[in-house]
Amino acid sequence: MTEAAPDCLFCRMVAGDITPDVVAETPTTLAFRDVNPQAPTHVLVVPRTHHATIGALAAADPGLAAELLAAAQAVAVQEGLATGSAPEPGWRLVVNSGPDAGQTVHHVHLHVLGGRGLGWPPG
Ligand code: AMP
Ligand code: ZN
Repeated sequence: MTEAAPDCLFCRMVAGDITPDVVAETPTTLAFRDVNPQAPTHVLVVPRTHHATIGALAAADPGLAAELLAAAQAVAVQEGLATGSAPEPGWRLVVNSGPDAGQTVHHVHLHVLGGRGLGWPPG
């Protein structure tokens, strides 16, 4: 579905009912700081329309999925984690999808993480 979902936290942010710490906006995406940051930079990038998972978004609107990815790259550049031409000092994109990955908010969101060395493999 693409209309706002009742009781969806990120739809409420997009609608302006809850005001997150916004760092970037496009006509189709919103980027804001995670309330419980796991790195010096931890920004969530969401589409303004509601899709539960990255898979659902990719199936329903691949163009919007590409816009979401471009918005994450723009945030990384804005946060000093990359330039337009090089991935230095570097950053990580995380998309939790479903229970085993620990997805807790069921409105697709890209985590932009950086500002410290990031361990691998992830937990
Ligand atoms: P996930 O576990 O991938 O579904 O990520 C959900 C993320 O949303 C977590 O990192 C939370 O810290 C974050 N989060 C939950 N509530 C808020 C909020 N009100 N503002 C900003 N981030 C939030
Ligand atoms: Zn939503």
